[in-house]
Amino acid sequence: MPVRFAPSPTGDLHLGHAFSALLNWQVARETADTFLLRHEDIDASRVRPQFYDQIEEDLAWLGLDWPKPARRQSAHLDDYRDRLDTLATMGVIYPCARTRKDVAEAADRAPQQGAGGAAPLLDRPPPSEIARTLETGAPYAWRFDPRVADDLLGSHRPTFEEAGHGTVTADPFRLGSVILGRKDAPASYHVCVVHDDACQAVTQVIRGEDLSDSTHLHVVLQTLLGLPTPTYRHHRLITDDGGKRLAKRDDATSLRSLRAGGATPANIAARVGLSL
Ligand code: GLU
Repeated sequence: MPVRFAPSPTGDLHLGHAFSALLNWQVARETADTFLLRHEDIDASRVRPQFYDQIEEDLAWLGLDWPKPARRQSAHLDDYRDRLDTLATMGVIYPCARTRKDVAEAADRAPQQGAGGAAPLLDRPPPSEIARTLETGAPYAWRFDPRVADDLLGSHRPTFEEAGHGTVTADPFRLGSVILGRKDAPASYHVCVVHDDACQAVTQVIRGEDLSDSTHLHVVLQTLLGLPTPTYRHHRLITDDGGKRLAKRDDATSLRSLRAGGATPANIAARVGLSL
């Protein structure tokens, strides 16, 4: 029953990452399963090479261990593209050249749709407009079409086990017409994570509650792609003293600066409410 910790090498790990990594590690220890590390590095514009080593050094210092080398998403771009092609063939994604402004306007027109208006359900453009988008060579995004997904799933919407919530029915509309890829980029986080969790045989996903809406989409994608669905646990997010979510640029809570200030792994665990 492997578990995984999947940070992006775009900045220092902070206390929130330590909490997530330690939770995964402790579950792996309790069940005698493997703890996996995965570098989610598909966004080349944000990746900083020094953070691969920095992340691994911080985790090793905390006492964690994983099969080496850790998987890097950037080494699997062709696989993500294949997954995207499959979804396109199914008709569950479509090329969309709409701008952010168009999308915001659509959200204003139909505020009741999508997740809090942030991810509206767009009308799929007619085939002639899609053909024009492909012909002009202009940039476009591959958008998810929840209506087509819903049709394909039929009356049997997939379910998943979520700690604290029991059996949950996946809602294909939860993230609206979310972008799953771009013309010049392989695929978005959602497609990569679904592919990787299946490839790495992850059976239990333990991650922050900020991703609990995404889980609905992930389970729908797993079902459409014929991949297994792990169980899910969404943990609380660690906040600063003012109740604000920690950010990578906030040096005060980075593991690197806490280590430099003399903190021990046990101090870090205690600060996030765990014991080693
Ligand atoms: N790479 C994601 C992040 O750093 C985590 C993805 C996941 O655990 O599914 O927030």
